[in-house]
Amino acid sequence: MTSGARLVVLGRQGAGKGTQAVRLSRHYVVPHISTGDMLRAAVRAGSDLGRQAGKIMAAGDLVPDDLMVGIVDERLGHDDTKRGYILDGFPRTVEQAEALAEITEARPLDLVIDLEVATEVVVERLASRRVCEDCGTNYSTDQPPRYDARCDNCGGNVIQREDDTPEAIKHRLDAYEAKTAPLIEWYKDRSLLEVVDGLGPLDVVTKRLIDVIEARRVGE
Ligand code: AMP
Repeated sequence: MTSGARLVVLGRQGAGKGTQAVRLSRHYVVPHISTGDMLRAAVRAGSDLGRQAGKIMAAGDLVPDDLMVGIVDERLGHDDTKRGYILDGFPRTVEQAEALAEITEARPLDLVIDLEVATEVVVERLASRRVCEDCGTNYSTDQPPRYDARCDNCGGNVIQREDDTPEAIKHRLDAYEAKTAPLIEWYKDRSLLEVVDGLGPLDVVTKRLIDVIEARRVGE
């Protein structure tokens, strides 16, 4: 078995973070921790958290930092993260990154990857994106599931996300530039950042990611 990995994947909405994070989690045999998936599950379950987060998410705003830090702190305490994890969608603000550094003080992150895809490209991808409500597998109007709106992976319902409307897309990308993009410098200053080109066939992008992660290990 390959050694695990403690990774964060940053990138604009629609850069392919979720898809690539799932692939990395299979490769390194560590859990894929997507805060967006966790929040959407909470909304579907109608829990307190879901009630607090649902409206904020539909508008494309960020859920408050203290709530997010609590969720991630709890999740990273589970036994399945001993070999590592792929964090997708967290941190999204400098405050969250600072909290994550504290949470992971005993076992720090190996690497933060910025999956780089230009805004013009992600806008198109987001508008055509479809996603399984149950397992988060991504599809698009060009590459739909094999049978109607049933997920190829788990049979779940494949839908258009409520926040993939043109208004919410714009709002989310603005929030990314204002609040999340500064993290790129923040992690660069801490020598944790690698930028990976997110354009191209899925397998090619996955290989680029693994190559960067492995090069970093050899250099350690
Ligand atoms: P995602 O699936 O990562 O695009 O997340 C969907 C939505 O969940 C975001 O637009 C936010 O409203 C919320 N969300 C997910 N992760 C975070 C986070 N780390 N901080 C604040 N809000 C978040």
